[in-house]
Amino acid sequence: MLKGKTALVTGSTSGIGLGLAKALAQQGANIVLNGFGDVEGPKAEVAALGVKVAYHGADMSKPVEIEAMMKYAAAQFGRVDILVNNAGIQHVARIENFPIERWDAIIAINLNSAFHATRLALPAMQKANWGRIINVASVHGLVASAEKSAYVTAKHGLVGFTKVTALENATTGVTCNAICPGWVLTPLVQKQVDAKAATGGISNEAATRQLLGEKEPSLQFTTPEELGALALFFCSPAGNNVRGVAWNMDGGWAAQ
Ligand code: NAD
Repeated sequence: MLKGKTALVTGSTSGIGLGLAKALAQQGANIVLNGFGDVEGPKAEVAALGVKVAYHGADMSKPVEIEAMMKYAAAQFGRVDILVNNAGIQHVARIENFPIERWDAIIAINLNSAFHATRLALPAMQKANWGRIINVASVHGLVASAEKSAYVTAKHGLVGFTKVTALENATTGVTCNAICPGWVLTPLVQKQVDAKAATGGISNEAATRQLLGEKEPSLQFTTPEELGALALFFCSPAGNNVRGVAWNMDGGWAAQ
């Protein structure tokens, strides 16, 4: 379905981003990976799916590095057809205790980076009259939780940005939509499970049950593979007129 297309997925060395990159690669898209930590492992996992894979280590909190990454992607593969704005971090603290540096980093990585990557990707998509921009927001783009002020602010902002991007391109073949997962068991969430286990003096299993039980009626994690299937739907011809939605895959979290 996506043979000959290029997908750039930010924050794709781990978790949801890597899952989305693999789903797009399974449909034939060449992939540009980005993110920190181990690079060779994720590169090999994507390459094993029979597509070309490149990597750029831009720090998504730095506009100059985002610009260099977009230039690199165009130089490698001609242009970016599918942009997945996925890189994100979390910090949990009450507002009066929230470290200013963490606030700034979350807004920069979870929100501002999507603006920069999108503004740089759009001209080539508009010229080709085809493009898909998929913003990995969160159920926290739709509802709030205490102690996540920066994250909730960034994700609500990303949902708003998704709608504006969709509207500005509504008469073209360029669509923009957001995916809003509930809990997905990635390193980002494992840290929150570990903190719960430590403060409550409970086992990892009990902390996991508590985490799910507080928010997610299905009591099940969403998987990167399920999110990948939704991303592929947005990229399919059936997604041609799906514009500006924020689609939650959250086990009923936001239905409450
Ligand atoms: P993760 O920690 O497994 O992966 C985050 C990725 O972002 C990694 O590849 C990391 O290297 C990269 N990254 C972090 N800071 C970066 C920076 N400054 N520049 C470039 N890359 C950077 O986390 P995840 O759970 O897979 O999260 C991915 C996205 O999904 C985030 O936007 C997150 O908010 C969102 N999300 C996650 C969940 C969940 O339950 N895990 C739920 C809803 C939304």
